[in-house]
This record gives sequence, structure tokens and C-alpha cells, in this order.
Amino acid sequence: MNNKHFLMGNEAIAYGAVAAGLQFATGYPGTPSTEVMETLIKNAKKYNFYAEWSTNEKVALETAIGASFSGASSIVTMKQVGLNVASDPLMSLTYLGVNGPLVLLVTDDPGPHSSQTEQDTRSFGLFSNIPVLDPSNSQEAYEMTRYAFEISKKYETPVFLRTTTRVSHRCDDVVLDELKPSNEDIEGFSKSSRWAIFPKLVAERHPILEKLQKTLSDEFSDSKFNFKSGTGKIGIITSGASHHYVNEAISNNKDLFSVLKIGTPYPFPENKLLEFINDVDLIITVEELDSFLEDQLLQLLGKHDISKTVYGKKNNIFPCCGEYSVDIVKTGINKVLDILKIQKIEISEKLIEKTDIIPLPVRPPNLCAGCMHRTVFYAFKEVSKDLKKQNIQIIFSGDIGCYTLGNAPPLELIDTCLCMGAGISLAGGISRTTKNSKNVAFIGDSTFFHSGIPAVINAVYNKADVTIAVLDNRTTAMTGHQPHPGTGKTALGESTKLIDIEGILKSCGIEFVKTVSTDDFSACKDSSREAIEYNGPSAVVFRGNCVSLVKSTKKYVIDKNKCTSCKICVERLGCPAITLSEKIPEIMETCTGCGLCKAVCPADAINEVDEK
Ligand code: SF4
Ligand code: SF4
Repeated sequence: MNNKHFLMGNEAIAYGAVAAGLQFATGYPGTPSTEVMETLIKNAKKYNFYAEWSTNEKVALETAIGASFSGASSIVTMKQVGLNVASDPLMSLTYLGVNGPLVLLVTDDPGPHSSQTEQDTRSFGLFSNIPVLDPSNSQEAYEMTRYAFEISKKYETPVFLRTTTRVSHRCDDVVLDELKPSNEDIEGFSKSSRWAIFPKLVAERHPILEKLQKTLSDEFSDSKFNFKSGTGKIGIITSGASHHYVNEAISNNKDLFSVLKIGTPYPFPENKLLEFINDVDLIITVEELDSFLEDQLLQLLGKHDISKTVYGKKNNIFPCCGEYSVDIVKTGINKVLDILKIQKIEISEKLIEKTDIIPLPVRPPNLCAGCMHRTVFYAFKEVSKDLKKQNIQIIFSGDIGCYTLGNAPPLELIDTCLCMGAGISLAGGISRTTKNSKNVAFIGDSTFFHSGIPAVINAVYNKADVTIAVLDNRTTAMTGHQPHPGTGKTALGESTKLIDIEGILKSCGIEFVKTVSTDDFSACKDSSREAIEYNGPSAVVFRGNCVSLVKSTKKYVIDKNKCTSCKICVERLGCPAITLSEKIPEIMETCTGCGLCKAVCPADAINEVDEK
């Protein structure tokens, strides 16, 4: 019996995995992938499979590989940047192959909306010889997930299910099959030379891997996920979200075009493409991120000595970067029609002219009102002002997470930010090469477990003079408050051993380790100063609660009679709950009662009101 449900692409993927008989799921949160694991975790008990948030993407993949070697149907979820972390085991796995099917859900972020790269997982598929499926809507996301498990099982290969933000986060009706709890036993691990990678095995497996690419290309040529529409002589090849932009862009001029939508970009479905290009005079490739389809197509034309003009990113018809839209696609297609001297496609009158839209207020990224990170950043800012007077430069290395926002005005504290876990190592490098500097590295609690620990060991081992500030708000806040090893809870809500950050810092050899509550601004300042002044690696764990999770009953108000209008609370602290009203600051309803503004007000003009 079929059921129709209104699902987000990421939810559809989770249900696709369940429908495929999922037995094991791991992942690390990261936008836009997070809802896949969130949905799986919610359904793990109901459908009888195991699910966990792992400490990072490499660990998530390695754990799932162990499950797959034991015969379990497994999925691993991450965003595109996380794939870089997981790439080491992945590049070896591709030679070994899998036992139980193993699907890697990786979400790309054209735009980028919330990422430090705009990389394209299709290219990673080509690089690693791992097949890539690329859905364009929630129904396809569901069906392709099932197909990914089938392909993985049939060819004993890991499979990438790759989406982009607009596919992961769009909502559509999805027809689901009847979902049942997985009742198949996992066979368990059996010893085999297949699972231990040695050069001899790699030499044996590499030709098999290469041959598989041809087999998969042939299979994909017959796949229902690659389909043609239209009969025009101008061919368009597209995939993913771009397929929808193309359909809308040509909706009034369909006769001119034939469109081939590619759902299986790697291995490139060559036979399907040969069929398609035979029927058209020229080809336009429309795709976000890399010129992946275009490159594959150009190679195919060269290989078969076919002379057809291709318009895409390489001849500047379409932009090489950023997210596409219907307007961008229309503009690109019109450039080609202009070259062909064909009347351009109509750009229909917009229902609302841009000038009619009331401009939305600009809302720069900012830490939440009452966020404990603001207390820490402000404490370091105050301390660095004092130290500057002694000609000591303090350099602040940030990390990925809410604390990246320490870079935003008015705090403007963070000097570097590269990737997860990099702050500590980066600070070590700067400390060795910048005279008269003291180096502070900020890292969040989840990131500390993700990739911070090896950098702590390196700092101690190589005697780096760095101060490590662990901003521990007891959750993975940026991606939606997932648990991590420092929370004492598993993804499935079970109590577990709480891994002690201070204990790890000490056991890594850091001799100066302090813990301070972010409720105490003055203690935060003192500990920051002591840690910076300490000669050698030092660490302070700043502990508090994420303000989105733990609500205070306190509120604060400004006594207008005492306020001197110095504006420290507005212009230096930057709490979004404080605004200026006729040159006098005012605390708004959004105040969460952290008390930081009271601690910094030099006129003692801010008072607590208990709202209990
Ligand atoms: S810091 Fe205190 S004195 Fe200065 S503007 Fe704010 S409330 Fe007024
Ligand atoms: S107490 Fe002050 S700093 Fe804290 S949230 Fe309220 S207004 Fe902002």
C-alpha cells in the first residue's frame, strides 16, 4: 500500500534508507545534511536499527565500514566539508569495497549558505571511483536512496548519495512504500584477506575497480533517473536543482529544446549521452558548482570524435561559482540564443517588480542575546587591551561553530578561521613565527572531540606557547543541539559515560588547566589573563549553558537616571537585546538574563529584575 507524505528531501532520504532495510547509521551534524540523521535517530527504535552521532566524519565512516564488513546495511551522513575529514578511510575503502551495502549521504552547499567551501561531491566521486547519485526532488531523494543501497549491495561498492541545499531542504509530496522494522539478522564479521589493505591486495583490486566503472556507466545508461524531455534541436544537459531552473526557464519556448536530466553523474552514463547528442545540434550544460557534466561531455565528444559545440561554464555562458536561479539560467540560455541569432526566450514579467518589495532589514550574523561565548570573547578583549599596552600582540584563532561569530562587529575578536579543529594548530604555527605575540585558540566542546584533541597533543609535544579556550556550552549548538561525548547522552537519548574535557587536556600534558563558569565575568577575565601570561601551553574551559536550551528567569533593566550614555553596552558588547532609544540604551524583551551587561556597565546602571 502506498502512502503520500509531505517530506523534506533530507527526511525522504532517511525514509529511503529505512525502506532499503537500514541496520546501522552514523554521522556528524553539518548543514545542510543534519536532518537525515535527526530523522533516522527519531525512527531508530521503531524500525529496529542502530544510530549514532559520531565524534567526527572520519570516525563515522570507519564505524559504518566496520558494520558493513559485518554485513550490515549502513548509511553515513555528513556535509561536503566533512567529506574531507572522512576522505582518508574512504580512499582506501574504495579499493576494498564493502560487504553489507554502504551509502554515504553528502550534502553540497552552493552559495554557500553555511559552509567554508563550495566543493562538489560529484568530483569526489570521480576522484575516488565511487558512484554518485544526484536527486532533484524529495521523491527522487527517497527512490535514489533505495537505489543507492541496491547498487552498493550488487557491486560491493560504497555509493555517494549527493544532494545540494535546495534538494535537501525542499519539501514535496513523497509516495512511501510501507515501512517495516528491519528483521534481518546481521551476519557478523567473518575473517577474510579482503578486509586488510596491503599493497598486494590494492594491486589486485585496482583493475577490478576500474572495470566496475565501465559496468556502472552501462547500468546507469539504462537508469530511470536519467531521462529526456522535449524534441528541440538545442540540447540541454542538467542535474539536481538546476533541472527545475531549466524547466522553468524554457517553459514558454519548449519547442526549441531537448533536456537530458542526469541523476547518475558518475560513472558518466556514456551510452545515454551518445544517444542524446545524436538527436541535437549543440549542447548547453547547466549545473551548479564544478563543470562536471560539461567536462565529462567534452571528454566523450573527443573520445568518439564527435563535433558538437558545448556551451557551459568553460566559455563563460554560466557562472563557475555560487547557487543558480531561474534568472541566471535564462540569462545563460539567452547568451547562446544570441550567438545562434535566434530570438531570445521571453523573460516573463515578474508578478512583483523588485522595486515594489519592501526591503527587509539587514540582519548581520550575531551571537544570540545572552550567549555565553560573548562573555568569553569580551573577557579576552578586555585582557588583550591591557596587554597591548605592554607591547604584546594577542592573536585569536577561531574555529567553526557559533564562536565563529566572535569575528562579527562589535566584538571583532577572531583573527583566523579555517576549518574544524584548526584553531589550536594554527595558533601554534603563529606563536613560533610572530615575535612578541601571545596566541589564543578558541574551540567549541563538540569540535574539541571532533578534531581538537590531536592539535592539543601537538601543542604540548612541540612546546607551543598557546592558550586553548574551550567554549563548552554542553551541546553542538550551531547544527541544532545534537549531543556529543561531553554531554553524557547518546543520540538515542541513553545515558552514557561523560567524557571529561579537563581530564583530556591534563592527560595530554597541559599543566595549566582551569575551569570557569561564564556566569562569572570577572573570573572569566582573571582566568583568561592568567592563561595568557602562563609560559607554555595553557587551557581554560569556559563552561555555561547554551542560551537556546536553558532559559533564565532573570531579566535586566537600565536605570535611566544612572546611565551616563557611555554606550559600552551597545557599541562594545553588542548584545542584540540592547538597543538605543533616543541616545539612551534600552533592554528589550529578548534579554535572556545573562547579566553580562551589568558586569561591564561602569555606572552601575543595570539592574536585575526577577521575572519568576
Ligand atoms: S554601559 Fe551602562 S552607563 Fe554605559 S550606556 Fe550602557 S547602561 Fe548606560
Ligand atoms: S542581561 Fe544584558 S547582556 Fe545579557 S541578554 Fe540581557 S541585555 Fe543582553
